[in-house]
Amino acid sequence: MINNNFCWMATWMVTDRCNLQCAYCDPSIMKRANEAEVINRFEALDRIAVYKPRILNISGGEPALLKELPGLLSRAKAVWNPYIRVVHNGTGPQKLAEAFPCIDRLVISIDGPGEVNAATRGISGDAVLERIAALIDSPSLDTIPEITINTVVTEKNIDTLRSFAAQINSVSPRIGLALLPVMPVDGELSVLKDREAGYKRFLDIYAGIKAAHGNVTHNLDCVMRHKNLRKIQCYNQYFTVRFSPRGEPFTCGAGIVSQLRRSDRAYKKVFKKGGLRKLFTMIVKSIKEKAGAVDFTCRNICNCDSWLDMVLLGKETEYAPVVLRGFKGRLSNDDYAELEEFVKKHINADFNAARFREMAEGGSK
Ligand code: SF4
Ligand code: SF4
Repeated sequence: MINNNFCWMATWMVTDRCNLQCAYCDPSIMKRANEAEVINRFEALDRIAVYKPRILNISGGEPALLKELPGLLSRAKAVWNPYIRVVHNGTGPQKLAEAFPCIDRLVISIDGPGEVNAATRGISGDAVLERIAALIDSPSLDTIPEITINTVVTEKNIDTLRSFAAQINSVSPRIGLALLPVMPVDGELSVLKDREAGYKRFLDIYAGIKAAHGNVTHNLDCVMRHKNLRKIQCYNQYFTVRFSPRGEPFTCGAGIVSQLRRSDRAYKKVFKKGGLRKLFTMIVKSIKEKAGAVDFTCRNICNCDSWLDMVLLGKETEYAPVVLRGFKGRLSNDDYAELEEFVKKHINADFNAARFREMAEGGSK
């Protein structure tokens, strides 16, 4: 654990540049590179390597636009061997081929078939599926990572998802389909805005989607556990860290004490080694002890790794084992012991650590 955050999962937004302009994208994402993109990403990777996240998500912007991506991923594998997921927008999965030996899972974002994806992302969903099919059939590729299609479920695409699932199945039953809730959960586009009634409607439709393509999971159940969507308790925030393109870490701490506990590494750098550093560490430790309970409050719900909350609370989901197996062989006995202590103390006294370990270590990679 580093500064009260286990840093087991990290998302590195390797670039702010993208070749699409999706309707709902963050306005800071750029069409073209400017001086902000002049970054030594190998130095950035060295900053991330300090935390040794067991699962490293590579996102952007669009990671396939980076020429140095194969070299970066190869270095990450050589230095600490994380499980690597790369998120791609579907414009050119073949551009990632050189990096395939280092990618464990390629996650391709598609909002639905044909025009459904074109309406929000400006590229036909059918065209993206054709590219994936060409990739799978390519005789020149020795290694192809596991492929998952991520689809955010909205009022605009929910009725097309069964035919979309069948279409994916016809490309390959091995391609996973993961269905995620749109944010905000109580917004106009959300199928869950009516809460239980909306969730029941989704589950009825989901049964049909599963019949069309068995390799599908969803994590809509993760948000249904929150009664108040404006102030939630998020437990996964103490296991994840985000990094800017330059490798600067961001965490979600809710309170000042949380922030201080999490940011002490930066101050330690200032103090370097020696008495002042020791003194600072002691002060932070004492604040931590006096502060008592860890603060899990969040007023900005996201769906990044909310499956972990479910596992820590002892709730079985379809989605969790798919991600948990990224930890396989990457957590030590000490890691599991620290997890058990932290969760039993702060989250769930009945936490079943053996079940967590079984899910992480039992599945195929
Ligand atoms: S693909 Fe992702 S980063 Fe690119 S415009 Fe769309 S949402 Fe933004
Ligand atoms: S739900 Fe909130 S605290 Fe949890 S990861 Fe998302 S933004 Fe961070």
